[in-house]
Amino acid sequence: MVRFDAVVVGAGLAGTTSARLLAESGKKVLLIEKRRHIAGNCYDYKNEYGITVHKYGPHIFHTNNSRVWKFVNRFSKFRYYQHRVLSYVDGKYLPFPINRDTIAELFGVDLPTAEVESFLREEVRRSKFNIPPQNFEDQVISQVGERLYEKFFKGYTIKQWNKDPKELSADIAKRVPIRSSRDGRYFTDKYQGIPVQGYTRMMERILNHENISVLLGVNYFDIKEELKSDLTVYTGKLDEFFGYSFGRLEYRSLRFEFITYDMEYYQPAAVVNYPNDYDWTRITEYKYFLDEKVPKTTVSYEYPVGEGEPYYVVLTKENMMRREKYMKEVKKLERSGEYIFVGRLAEYKYYNMDQVIEKALERLSFNA
Ligand code: UDP
Repeated sequence: MVRFDAVVVGAGLAGTTSARLLAESGKKVLLIEKRRHIAGNCYDYKNEYGITVHKYGPHIFHTNNSRVWKFVNRFSKFRYYQHRVLSYVDGKYLPFPINRDTIAELFGVDLPTAEVESFLREEVRRSKFNIPPQNFEDQVISQVGERLYEKFFKGYTIKQWNKDPKELSADIAKRVPIRSSRDGRYFTDKYQGIPVQGYTRMMERILNHENISVLLGVNYFDIKEELKSDLTVYTGKLDEFFGYSFGRLEYRSLRFEFITYDMEYYQPAAVVNYPNDYDWTRITEYKYFLDEKVPKTTVSYEYPVGEGEPYYVVLTKENMMRREKYMKEVKKLERSGEYIFVGRLAEYKYYNMDQVIEKALERLSFNA
């Protein structure tokens, strides 16, 4: 029997942040991670061409929460970076999220901001959807109408989730704004950036504390009987913890194809989305993130898949109902004071990185 004050399961953002907060409050922490590396899906590394690539796809840090920003800045400097995305539609690279310039370039009409709004209202007026919006499709059409929905959202969403967009929650659409201005940024948060030495290095520093021991390549479920602690912070899959007793929750995974080209730049933005063409959803060109000046360039083609490491929760009614059943069990365990469930997988929530850290700060700060 091994004794620690706290056991943390999973070395992603939820687990590393929790471990740090516990350690700083004087607790001896054992962090267990089944992969052979820390940092979860934020894991990045410098490849042989000197380019920092994100093994599990593009991660851009953005937050409006000054507490979260302060926390991450204790462990890394951030490079000033404001993310821009282009969407490849009708053979053109167009700004995405849809804004005034997107409309101008797509329809060849340069409307002033006020007229963009009336243009979109007219698009919406000519479209059919439920009011109030019941699902992803309604939500998007209620903002931009059917024509733009078909060009920018429908194909991408079907590829990404392998579901009819009518089955998906309107909340997914709320991640992507629609703008009548010329603001071409993907995010408008107050704080945005990329850790200058990468996410892995930042998270190594989060874990660099005398009270934290890290065990890699070990599955918690294989050794849980051997562990003894006052508290377990669990950040893994929600349904797995309970032995899938209420049935399986769906997770969406991704497959990446990394290719290095012998050219300085491959595409005109860090990320290009492909809603309608090809089988991938997006291509990411990594050197943009840290403005790495090297002669070659590495990109990843991103293919959504059903099986594999969990990346995304799938916000359908069925999954949300199943989630509720599991969350009732979670609440019972949490009331005992012996467990905390936090993070994208453990709470079955489509959190961004900053929201994960925010939750961990909220849940663990009674110890801090
Ligand atoms: N989406 C879309 N077209 C795009 C980009 C996004 O339809 O060009 C939809 C799609 O359903 C996607 C969701 O918006 O899953 C959220 O997009 P986001 O960029 O936030 O996805 P993430 O970076 O989390 O994969």
